[in-house]
Amino acid sequence: MAGQDEIRCFVVGDIQTNCYAYVSQGDCLVVDPGASGARIAQQLADVRVTQVVATHRHHDHVGGVRALVEATGAPWAIGAIDAPRAVQALELSSHVFDVDGDDIADPPEPDVLLREGDVVEVGTARFRVLDTPGHTEGGIVLVGEGSATGVALVGDTLFAGSCGRTDLLGGDWSQMQATLARLAREIAPETTLLCGHGQPTTMAHELAANPYLS
Ligand SMILES: [Zn+2]
Repeated sequence: MAGQDEIRCFVVGDIQTNCYAYVSQGDCLVVDPGASGARIAQQLADVRVTQVVATHRHHDHVGGVRALVEATGAPWAIGAIDAPRAVQALELSSHVFDVDGDDIADPPEPDVLLREGDVVEVGTARFRVLDTPGHTEGGIVLVGEGSATGVALVGDTLFAGSCGRTDLLGGDWSQMQATLARLAREIAPETTLLCGHGQPTTMAHELAANPYLS
């Protein structure tokens, strides 16, 4: 990552989802507002939220979209294949909610459907969309270019030392294996991976230590 770009992380919701705000030139891309959209909007009052993206349709990644887009007016986007089920994220969740003030809701219909090869821009940063099925049928990974070179937002596809579960609706282990092999090939080793849960890591570290990438 170059220049004046900044990444903020908010840990939100009942399963500790990482919501990332990528700020470049005063514009801000928010990825995976899983809960507490109004609070996230308040904490981004100093920048212009220009786009909201979910890496996949699970409730803990889209539950804050509605409040965030209502507060900011920003369009929101998700992978085209995940979009139909995204609008019923809460009822499709196997999870018993314990919201405790962390406001969540089903998102509205997405404004933009993302597909392989699309590019999401914010300031001088660009993120190229990879279709990465496995954890859900239509999950995506965002690979940074321009001033975001060296950063990738990997959602629940890849974690430090692990990968996303494939036993939920729409999950598929053989697709996950193909997706992980592709990420290992296509994401440069020095890239920082911002995961949907837990700590950031690097592709080099995962190539060396993650049993799911070997
Ligand atoms: Zn998930």
